[in-house]
Amino acid sequence: MVDKKNQESPNHFNLPKKIERLGELAYNLWWTWNPDAARLFSLIDEALWDETRHNPVDFLHRVERPSLNAVMDDDAYMENYTEQVALFEEYVAAKETWFSRQHAEAAGKKIAYFSFEFGLHESVPVYAGGLGVLAGDHLKEASDLGVPIIGVGFIYRQGYFTQHITEDGWQETGHYIHNFNEMPVEPVLDGDGEPLMISVQLPGREVFVRIWRVQVGRVPLYLMDTDIPKNTYNDRQLNARLYSSDPEVRISQEIILGIGGVRVLRKLGYEIDVWHMNEGHSGFLALERIREYVAAGKSFQEAKDTVRKRTIFTTHTPVPAGIDMFPVWLVERFFFNMWSELGIDRNEFINLAKQTVEWGDFFSMANLALRLSAHANGVSELHGKVSREMFNFLWPDREPEQVPITHVTNGVHTMTWLSEPMARLYETYLDKNWLDHLDDVEMWEKVADIPNEFLWKIRLEQKRKMIRFLTDRARRQWLTEAVHPVQIIAGGVMLDPAVLTIGFARRFSTYKRGNLILRDFDRLLKIINDRNMPVQIVFSGKAHPADEPGKLIIQQVYRAVKDAKTGGRMVFVEDYDMNVARYLLQSVDVWLNTPRRPNEASGTSGMKAAMNGALNFSVLDGWWHEAYNGSNGWAVGDLTDFPDTNQQDDYDASHLYDVLEKEIVPLYYNRFGNSVLPDAWLQRVKNSLRTLSPQFSMRRMLKEYIENLYVDALS
Ligand SMILES: *Cc1c(COP(=O)(O)O)cnc(C)c1O
Repeated sequence: MVDKKNQESPNHFNLPKKIERLGELAYNLWWTWNPDAARLFSLIDEALWDETRHNPVDFLHRVERPSLNAVMDDDAYMENYTEQVALFEEYVAAKETWFSRQHAEAAGKKIAYFSFEFGLHESVPVYAGGLGVLAGDHLKEASDLGVPIIGVGFIYRQGYFTQHITEDGWQETGHYIHNFNEMPVEPVLDGDGEPLMISVQLPGREVFVRIWRVQVGRVPLYLMDTDIPKNTYNDRQLNARLYSSDPEVRISQEIILGIGGVRVLRKLGYEIDVWHMNEGHSGFLALERIREYVAAGKSFQEAKDTVRKRTIFTTHTPVPAGIDMFPVWLVERFFFNMWSELGIDRNEFINLAKQTVEWGDFFSMANLALRLSAHANGVSELHGKVSREMFNFLWPDREPEQVPITHVTNGVHTMTWLSEPMARLYETYLDKNWLDHLDDVEMWEKVADIPNEFLWKIRLEQKRKMIRFLTDRARRQWLTEAVHPVQIIAGGVMLDPAVLTIGFARRFSTYKRGNLILRDFDRLLKIINDRNMPVQIVFSGKAHPADEPGKLIIQQVYRAVKDAKTGGRMVFVEDYDMNVARYLLQSVDVWLNTPRRPNEASGTSGMKAAMNGALNFSVLDGWWHEAYNGSNGWAVGDLTDFPDTNQQDDYDASHLYDVLEKEIVPLYYNRFGNSVLPDAWLQRVKNSLRTLSPQFSMRRMLKEYIENLYVDALS
């Protein structure tokens, strides 16, 4: 079976011939990181574009003919159309890429990349948070560099949940039912035009899986789907939602991801040379490959050695409590057939992953993944160190420094997260071909040449744009839902673009301490309501539906936001997703992050904010521990660790207020001499742009994966 494109005629949209290739652009996410191509859709009908959540497939199905006629009569539009179609063609067909030049020896090799979630764009809602967005950025950069990667994951019928906040601040969840035919994904079909299928064995039955393909530039991503009539009702629900808290559903999903994923690649005819597991959820893929080798006549030990050599495991979990584990009895029920197929017994099988904790024996996906990969890494320098200590027990005869887990610090895909005006500024002042040099530290020195007035103008314009976005959302809520008026104010209608703006947006897990800045509310009110130097704060983020403490933090934040004493200067934006994230990251002045150390393995949102001109104000955890140099942002607290979390929170919060009052706020509002610009502030922004943009780009990150891990595993 070859991996041929089975899509219906790209013109099933019935587009006029003159612009029919929009149909092709719609089915490749390339446009999502090429703003001139994105405009080909948005310019046709801006309101419909927003209404369809920037989903070009749904958009082209619904757009009306007069709107199409109007753009076809517009010379500027048609000129851009011709140019973008040509650029797209050239991009996907390119024979020579960075990878083909740098690694001619790897010609024809293939790398499989497995992840439970992929955050590529809001129109493909198969992600929950940072882990998925990292995976999405990884694929986009692989496409840009020409790295021969193939993604494997799940498509979720309901995606992640939608969030609504009640008047009392309680998170309510909703679910879309997604119609995959209205998404930029295509069914993978066999030679007879029937859905291509694989199956896996679950206790007492065979579960069938069909496959959808998302094209990410040059990189294909295959997403598995059990929602087909051949399966039982319960099995059809296996890909309903991300991160089920039911262990039986969860282990079934992970079996499909790991074992099913290998079978998908086999069925598609891929020969895979390197297998990369993004977090332990896909750990079963190594077992399936061992099984294949044993079936072909190898011993378990030989098979295991062969598999390990070609497997890479990236861990993202810095605390034992966060590790994905299953009760041993559950694993036995799902795998009792497998150990004999692997040529080992029950104990040998369980011992591959056994983790004994106070309340019993568990099967740890991280242990499994570490034992079955020869290459493993954490996602920041600090997290690498923490991981070597945390997993030292797997190598009891070694010192922590000798534990074979290295680190590759995360990065972000520049063109996915950068605002257009900033991209234009870089094109003008760094290099016309700056996109070819994203990770080039020397090129970024030229940030010094950017005139302060242009940088400042963009900062203000981006804030206006964000406020307009929030106001529009609030207006729509006011029009269509009977929400309490105070919720409209909480939605951001009183924000002011001239005011120093702090952003805090991410998942509301307790360790992220979304409420730390509220610890001394009176002191905070004084800061935000200062007559001459006011401050405003924009919060956004979801708590996992089963995370009651997380929902309580949202409630605490929301109640504070609603308090009239904040004067409308504190805001909570509902339903955080990649779209909301872009608006906030591209506009706020300060990006706040207050995790409890060392829980933040890396964190990536601060990197996105930095390259857009925000200054990070963060706990010295994850990436910020290695990124902060004293003049490219600020630290919340220092490296003092308290055994008592209350004490830690008091210490960190009081330090946070000190820095805000004494450094951040005065620097922002001090317009020295006759200047109308905060020159000292902008100097700090430039320090941040210069030192962080190349280092925390996905380009730098992917090249490190290639040079330090992939090349080794390929040899
Ligand atoms: C980048 C990103 C994240 C990760 O944010 P952290 O602050 O690193 O936890 C989560 N969600 C979305 C939508 C993102 O874009």
